[in-house]
Amino acid sequence: MTQKTDFKTGDRLYVLAGPNKAKIGILKRFIPRKSQVILEGVNLRVRHVKPNPNLNETGGRLKREAPLHISNVALVCPKCADPTWVRHEILPPSEPGARPRKLRICKRCQARIDE
Ligand SMILES: [Zn+2]
Repeated sequence: MTQKTDFKTGDRLYVLAGPNKAKIGILKRFIPRKSQVILEGVNLRVRHVKPNPNLNETGGRLKREAPLHISNVALVCPKCADPTWVRHEILPPSEPGARPRKLRICKRCQARIDE
């Protein structure tokens, strides 16, 4: 389903499965090539870093978000606040020569998400 990949930076995404199930995070990075998303503060992995005087790094434990597969997340509708799927609505261009606008519509409450 291609509609699942229609995420934008700043979207709130709900985790459907895995150890982070039921968490909600803001989309920080979408990696279409790998079908992965990185959500702010979700799926944190601790990385142990050695001090590196050359880079002026003190070392220690660094927390970093690991990517999640897009099949494990769903968009949270800003209007009904539930995880949902979207359909698309194509709007005619606002002015002659402009490109048509593609809006995402919540399948649950029918609200326009991109306004
Ligand atoms: Zn909705």
